[in-house]
Amino acid sequence: MDLTFTETELAFRDELRAWFEANPPGEEPAGDDAHYAWARDWQRRLHEGGWAGVHWPTEYGGRGASLFETAIFFEELGRANAPLPANVLGLLLGGPTVMFWGTEAQKERYLMPILSAEEIWCQGFSEPDAGSDLAAVKTTAVKDGDEWVIHGQKVWTSGAQYSKWCMLVARTDQDVPKHKGLTYFLMDMEQPGVEVRPLVQITGEAEFNELFIDGARIPDENVVGGVGNGWKVALTTLMNERAGLAFFLQVRMRQQLDKLIDVAAENGALDDPRIADKLADLHVRCETLRLMAFKGLSTIEKYGQPGPEGSLAKWLWSESNQQLAQLGADIVGADALLDGTPWAYELLRARGNSIEGGTTEILKNIVAERVLALPRAK
Ligand SMILES: Cc1cc2nc3c(=O)[nH]c(=O)nc-3n(C[C@H](O)[C@H](O)[C@H](O)COP(=O)(O)OP(=O)(O)OC[C@H]3O[C@@H](n4cnc5c(N)ncnc54)[C@H](O)[C@@H]3O)c2cc1C
Repeated sequence: MDLTFTETELAFRDELRAWFEANPPGEEPAGDDAHYAWARDWQRRLHEGGWAGVHWPTEYGGRGASLFETAIFFEELGRANAPLPANVLGLLLGGPTVMFWGTEAQKERYLMPILSAEEIWCQGFSEPDAGSDLAAVKTTAVKDGDEWVIHGQKVWTSGAQYSKWCMLVARTDQDVPKHKGLTYFLMDMEQPGVEVRPLVQITGEAEFNELFIDGARIPDENVVGGVGNGWKVALTTLMNERAGLAFFLQVRMRQQLDKLIDVAAENGALDDPRIADKLADLHVRCETLRLMAFKGLSTIEKYGQPGPEGSLAKWLWSESNQQLAQLGADIVGADALLDGTPWAYELLRARGNSIEGGTTEILKNIVAERVLALPRAK
């Protein structure tokens, strides 16, 4: 694959850089609600500038950028030290899923408010007994006239406390094999049957929530991709999750590593060959991740969708980011253990990296079976 940018891609990058320079995201505020409001405002500004849905087709209000330009966008977003837009789940997962599976009426109704951050989306997949094994979902949807009545519990639902819409996977048929009895719904979060309880993480933030659903109602027209087809629709959402974030995450890791090298140079840690070796290893990992992200792009270009190799990149990223956070604490010393310092935050937040978006064990299974074609685990 040729990694040299074309004239058009360079012009795109320069225009974007100029925009970021003229529109800095501003100081990151403390506190969950203030942080969320800041990221939402940031998305509004991106939208006004025509940068919110870079990878979305122009017919849906996006910029219609090529895959390479999209990669450039996420690299530059990371480089500008800007946050991910508040509606990242809508932009990267929900929107593309509706574009692929949705009816014309659904596209018309849902896509624009995702872009403008007017309506925030969350992903209601995981349940207390259905995480890695999504097909084990127990939340039920029962038909009542031209509506569905929902009962069940979701968990780890990121951003649910700010969301208007939930991508909800629920069981609509108990009598067929478990993958076949699922349906994908768009559930309005603003109704009496939906209760959101924030869960406080080890970092002190409440990024995700428990979601108790007791008699919530969803009209027929909010089924996405057809009744009983929820497994396939959910896979579209999940594949977009791993492909979309790869570029942003590797750039963020590169920035953290550069900061850490500066700290190590300042406090003398770099003179210790064991530390220098570990930093060099992380440098190689960053470069490998960047190349893997581009390799993922060429797969999308060739086959029209992300391939299972994305799992390898996510596994390598989570392992490397956890090593980086630990090395950060080793280099910075006691300060990294004080509440509220950036290195303490990184150390604690990185624990979730090997769980969110698919656990490392599950990713290893995918790589073994679908990339290396090894026999399936019994
Ligand atoms: C920060 C964060 C944000 C999240 N946001 C969301 C969200 O917005 N929406 C949402 O729906 N979910 C979200 N999740 C949930 C996440 O998708 C699940 O935690 C994840 O899929 C694992 O499921 P689980 O926690 O039920 O663990 P389990 O599936 O119960 O797994 C427990 C352990 O068993 C291992 N294991 C399970 N099955 C196998 C197997 N077949 N082979 C080998 N090992 C196995 C796992 O690797 C893990 O170590 C989030 C999680 C985190 C950490």
